[in-house]
Amino acid sequence: MADCMVSHNWFGLDTILHGGRSKDRRKVGNNTYLVRRGEDIAVRLHYTDILTFYRDGRIKINSGGWQTVTTRDRWNQYLPGAWNIQGDRGTYYLYNGEKRWGYRDGMIIHPDGTVTDYAPESDEERNRRLRRLINKHARLVADSLPLERNDLWGLWHRSEDAETLERNMVEDRVTDTLVYCALHIPQVGPMVLSAAFGQAAYPVEVIREFVRRKVRSYLIDRLITGRPPVVYCPTCLHTTPPRWTPMDGPNPIEGHDDRVVYTCPKFATHWEVVPKS
Ligand SMILES: [Zn+2]
Repeated sequence: MADCMVSHNWFGLDTILHGGRSKDRRKVGNNTYLVRRGEDIAVRLHYTDILTFYRDGRIKINSGGWQTVTTRDRWNQYLPGAWNIQGDRGTYYLYNGEKRWGYRDGMIIHPDGTVTDYAPESDEERNRRLRRLINKHARLVADSLPLERNDLWGLWHRSEDAETLERNMVEDRVTDTLVYCALHIPQVGPMVLSAAFGQAAYPVEVIREFVRRKVRSYLIDRLITGRPPVVYCPTCLHTTPPRWTPMDGPNPIEGHDDRVVYTCPKFATHWEVVPKS
């Protein structure tokens, strides 16, 4: 059947229907029909409306329990733009670029690109997806070294929340903060941190693989194990739970009320002033 029998929106399908003898039903492929459903238009495969294009721009996806190769092919033929449905280890997902949603009959794509009524991700699926992302991102971070930055002090006491970490991975964004958090730990010497930021005399090639592993384990800790970020003293790398807390009372540095003073839990002489975030 010709390509002109395929469209990816209500208006195109409406035009195809108007081009046939009946304005309410037209055969467009093997066992495949366009069928008018009141205001809406369905793509029907055998006896199932596998896609419903609503007049308002929404699209409903439904397999009727028949998740076959043919159903998937028809979905992908008629879904607009980057939308597509693929199987992964026996489970179907709706994809749009890097984003994906678990498949469920009746799930809806809205005109603004949001998806509702999808199958929630299980913990196992989430962890598998995150591990793949983390492996990819840790490699990207290592390959991006050295990051050019002089004031490492400004990174101290910062960390990204889990949501930001995940978004940065999806969008391939390498941040100073991530590298700093992954390397500013007691198990890593200060020279590695310096080299990662282009401040050491020795070639960054020496630390690439090491940094990749540290970034990977940091991300696994934060996103899969669910450990909160830990802040180490910038001088002695000491920390005790609970984590560092801002010093009580007025800011001792005159004219810097936009800053917070933190003191080391071990040595009172170790303290640092950081901008309020
Ligand atoms: Zn200290």
